[in-house]
Amino acid sequence: MRITTKSISTRLWLVILFITVCSSPIVAQATEPADKEDEVLAVLWQQSSGEHRALCYQAYALARMLLDRDLRNHRVRMRRAIIVDLDETVWDTSAYEAMNVKQRTNYPEGWVEWMNRAQATAIPGAVEFLNYANTRGVRIFYVTNRKPVGKEGTAQNLKKLGFPAVNDESLLMRDDPAIESKTARRKAISAKYHVVLLMGDDLNDFDDVFEKSKTIASRIEATDRNKSEFGTRFVVLPNPMYGNWANSLYEYNFKLTEQQKAALRRALLRD
Ligand SMILES: [Mg+2]
Repeated sequence: MRITTKSISTRLWLVILFITVCSSPIVAQATEPADKEDEVLAVLWQQSSGEHRALCYQAYALARMLLDRDLRNHRVRMRRAIIVDLDETVWDTSAYEAMNVKQRTNYPEGWVEWMNRAQATAIPGAVEFLNYANTRGVRIFYVTNRKPVGKEGTAQNLKKLGFPAVNDESLLMRDDPAIESKTARRKAISAKYHVVLLMGDDLNDFDDVFEKSKTIASRIEATDRNKSEFGTRFVVLPNPMYGNWANSLYEYNFKLTEQQKAALRRALLRD
């Protein structure tokens, strides 16, 4: 075979192209995911997008309309109440997530210290809405899965941001570390109050039907089956960073390596 100058040149370019493609960040990311890189975009979306803020304003505007409708249309025997979750519902803890990305640490490392620094920032629309509800005689319940070790910092943070009626009766922590479910706390409130609204960023903030749904398919099915509750009694806020939606991707296996998690995420993509 005759080797021409042209064919040498073509082969050289092909080798250069091969080396360039193989060493490009895109290919490197596909085979060797950078530590915590998968979390960066979610944190940035929450911290940097107008869309996140707009969705929060939208959720609290809807909550106000639903409360006004209830005040206008329903005579109720019991005092009204609103149940809200804390993290990513009334306030933003993305700074803690960003810290984990930068330091390559994982929840719950540093979480107690972070909570007790009382530096969460208010979700747009939350302080205004809950103060409005409070002035209309509605009891606010802050139902969180933060553990009692963070109670002082949590209460201080709520007061500092101007959230209303923060006290031992209204701030309900996860007193029993073994029980993640909020069902018992919700039931205790419902026994004494007319619950107008529940607000949260995780389906588990709303009803135990969601807590029992652990797979992606069953969570979607439970959401569809209860669709009439969303926008009427349940108001959902966005959280792309963590939650039971993410736990279900990994089938609640918290011992997976970063590589195993990355492989599962890719396997779940539908095209
Ligand atoms: Mg939350």
